[in-house]
Amino acid sequence: MPPPLAKPLAPDSAAPETATPGSATPGSATPGSKDSDGGVLAAAYGATSADSGLVPLTLARRAPREDDVEIAIEFCGLCHSDVHAVWGEWGGQAYPLVPGHEIVGTVSRVGSAVTDFAPGDRVGVGCMVDSCRECESCLDGLEQYCENGMTGTYGAVDRRNGGSITQGGYSSSIVVDRRYVLRVPDSLDPAAVAPLLCAGITTFSPLRHFDVEEGDVVGVVGLGGLGHMAVKLAKAMGAKVVVFTTSESKVPAALELGADEVVLSRDEAAMEAANRTIDLIIDTVAAPHDLNPLFRTLRVDGALFQLGLPSEAMPPVNPRALVRRRIAYAGSLIGGIAETQEMLDFCAEHGVVADIEVVRAEQLNEAYDRMVAGDVKYRFVLDTGTLQAPAKEADA
Ligand SMILES: [Zn+2]
Ligand SMILES: [Zn+2]
Repeated sequence: MPPPLAKPLAPDSAAPETATPGSATPGSATPGSKDSDGGVLAAAYGATSADSGLVPLTLARRAPREDDVEIAIEFCGLCHSDVHAVWGEWGGQAYPLVPGHEIVGTVSRVGSAVTDFAPGDRVGVGCMVDSCRECESCLDGLEQYCENGMTGTYGAVDRRNGGSITQGGYSSSIVVDRRYVLRVPDSLDPAAVAPLLCAGITTFSPLRHFDVEEGDVVGVVGLGGLGHMAVKLAKAMGAKVVVFTTSESKVPAALELGADEVVLSRDEAAMEAANRTIDLIIDTVAAPHDLNPLFRTLRVDGALFQLGLPSEAMPPVNPRALVRRRIAYAGSLIGGIAETQEMLDFCAEHGVVADIEVVRAEQLNEAYDRMVAGDVKYRFVLDTGTLQAPAKEADA
């Protein structure tokens, strides 16, 4: 699963204690109420410490500046990164923290210099809300690899907004610079689009980088939020798709998603039969696992992209496996803004969305437990319209 997408905080930095834009305070919100400078109070769910779980919070969102787009959030996907951040598993986390970087909603207000978005437009925000805009990566449309560090959608220092801490999409609204706002095609179900903003682009980008096209054979390792998107996207690009899984119980689900074949990776005979059959492997597994048997399924000039970041060491890669077939072992992180838009447009053209289960705010903690247990097909999405009710209860 994706890595910490928030820029790490300096150990001595702390979240602002007053309700400055970007701050979060426990309690309820009256969504839409405006403070004196035109900012809006947003209802949200977030964590107040590593062991608080998710509780109702109030967010003070800034008034849109000239380049800003204010978004009334409708849906936000639940990513494994959110769980790691909320539970403090990546360290250096500032609290309170409102997670969420698979955001879909409609524009409510725009700043004076915004001409490409208007109120009522359906839009999305993914894993970043800013970057330096000046380095080679940013100028190349690879903002996710910004040399000065992109600004994550939550838990990151917002350098252009007074150093406040960014707060994410488990909330009723968000304000984001227009350069980091995506256009969501109207033809797609807005709830099922949300996971495309992280899980979708994370798998689309390496598929595109490898120029996957009709006739290619793509292997997908792991069948979670990322893996199921990799299957759908690779199929839509015209590839034959082979899913590698350790679990026989996932075979029917993989075939249902459109996989042409499923290989049980613990079955040595099946792995031997897959020798030299694959062009590109998208490996989404975040637990340590041995890549060498997978390399043997690749053809000459094949590549393996690892997207998951195991917290423990992986078994060593055997260089012999790489040199014998000129195999590339690569990594990849989400995608740039232009590529994310290209992905959304591609999904509209091919009717691709995520398979989702919509949850209410008060189900978030249970959803986290189920996500960790792998008990979701394949992505939870929060209906942010349910945020207000629990917040009122928490006030009592
Ligand atoms: Zn994510
Ligand atoms: Zn940059």
